[in-house]
Amino acid sequence: TGSSLGLLAELAKERVGDETLLYFEDQRWTGTQLIERGARLSGGLRAAGLLPGDRVVVCMANCPEVGITYTAVWRAGAVVTPVLFLLSEPELRHVLTDSGARFVVTTPDFLPKVLGAAIGVPTVAAVVVAGDAPGVSGGTDLAGAGRGAVPPVVDFAELEAVEAAGLVDTSSTEMAALLYTGGTTGRSKGVVLTHDALSSAAWAANVSHEEETPEDGSRLAGLSPLPLSHVYGLAINVMGLHSTRPGTSVLMRWFDPGEFLTLVARHRVRISALVPMMIRMLLDTPVESHDTSSLRRVVSGSAALPRETALEWQRRLPHIALAEGYGCTEAAAIVSSAPRRAIRIGSVGKPVGGVEVRIERRDGTEAVVGEDGEICLRGPSLMSGYWNAPEETAKVLRGGWLHTGDVGKCDEDGYLYVVDRIKDVIIRNGFNVYPRDVEDVLLTHPDVVACGVVGRPDATRGEEIVAFVQLAPGATVTPAELIAFSRERISAVKYPREVLVVDTIPITSVLKTDRKALRAMLDR
Ligand code: ATP
Repeated sequence: TGSSLGLLAELAKERVGDETLLYFEDQRWTGTQLIERGARLSGGLRAAGLLPGDRVVVCMANCPEVGITYTAVWRAGAVVTPVLFLLSEPELRHVLTDSGARFVVTTPDFLPKVLGAAIGVPTVAAVVVAGDAPGVSGGTDLAGAGRGAVPPVVDFAELEAVEAAGLVDTSSTEMAALLYTGGTTGRSKGVVLTHDALSSAAWAANVSHEEETPEDGSRLAGLSPLPLSHVYGLAINVMGLHSTRPGTSVLMRWFDPGEFLTLVARHRVRISALVPMMIRMLLDTPVESHDTSSLRRVVSGSAALPRETALEWQRRLPHIALAEGYGCTEAAAIVSSAPRRAIRIGSVGKPVGGVEVRIERRDGTEAVVGEDGEICLRGPSLMSGYWNAPEETAKVLRGGWLHTGDVGKCDEDGYLYVVDRIKDVIIRNGFNVYPRDVEDVLLTHPDVVACGVVGRPDATRGEEIVAFVQLAPGATVTPAELIAFSRERISAVKYPREVLVVDTIPITSVLKTDRKALRAMLDR
């Protein structure tokens, strides 16, 4: 920490120079090429009016231009606000308005949505489009006249043609990213992360990855299918800047299991970070028939890894450590990760360097080993607060500790376990039931491919436990059989009293089980 991300990128350029840093869809880029494109784009954005502290919303699927934009924005002392391209127009509009965005950078496929969201948002000076879009050149107004305050559309390549710009002197304690949370538990809020917060999280993650550096001195190859526009992918991307021997990054536009396996073999990939649903998709293919001998570690994060999935991976791919990690946007994505040689299934590993974990009881005192409580965090990677929401900030940042809203516990060796989200806990007859415990049991049934458990308000019991299940094609198991199956395996307090079969379990834009949508399905 202590250096702005713009400066760190400049230093990385000196270290990696003309070596290949990035592979993307049969193209490759050296460190110098990437950083220089960033410097030119920075010049173009500044000529178009970007000032230090301004927010730049980035709405693109993975491609090199995402990283180039981050570099350009940080060089200018400005702030990146990446969004998932899957956001709906109203959600995007909320981000543009709330952040007071100056520019939006996108690709032709999302241009109509971006323009629709930006109409009438007074702070937006222009929408920048990377790639060929019909009618985009020389700052033409693509959306045409008569629709009110439609921002002008400018070409990314044209901005890059402007002269490269130097670094704006930026303190590492200033805001580098404004990231909007998924909103799975309420209205999407902006999380303010400084240059220091992002680089300390990235540095901590890097320490564990350096263990995987090849013994023969060749560069560590990492495969990235996670969106660079999500804090998890963003932190991993920033990580490359911190390595003493930066690796090569193989970037995927989006995840596809077959392509993932092909790229692992082609680039002799050693590490990758995925989410549980991607791991499930990999296991649903004949993974054993691919050459995955180069892979050492796959990290699973962002949602609970079902026990069944972890066990199946160990059985079928014993040479690849599947290490679960835990994080949240408010702590720059990386809180804990499993040590490769001592993985405990069900645990999310130990806190990464600099992060302190405290398990807190409801009365604010610290829980003992093995006792459930709220996971609280302290350390240099924490957010400064929610954007323009001091009351929301005060609710979660208390006494220097971030209250995550997750229930967890620690064991005697300091391993952390994430039990569930506090807001999802079902209280039936006064007993706390963690949906994840019930889901883990249902997933051991061979006919259940996905499930989600929620509470249905109940006049006598407070809440009743309802399980939504998605069955394997052709499966014939009945709800009554699944209830009986669960009843044999978990306590009477916890087994689901109602099982509802659905075609698919709804998921959020970052591939997490969408329990909010499931609760809404109960009301219908
Ligand atoms: P919102 O905060 O608006 O509800 P979100 O949950 O998508 O949206 P993120 O910051 O992306 O916000 O996700 C962080 C949360 O993801 C954690 O607080 C935790 O609930 C969950 N999570 C992350 N990793 C794990 C894990 N390994 N096991 C269980 N849960 C996890």
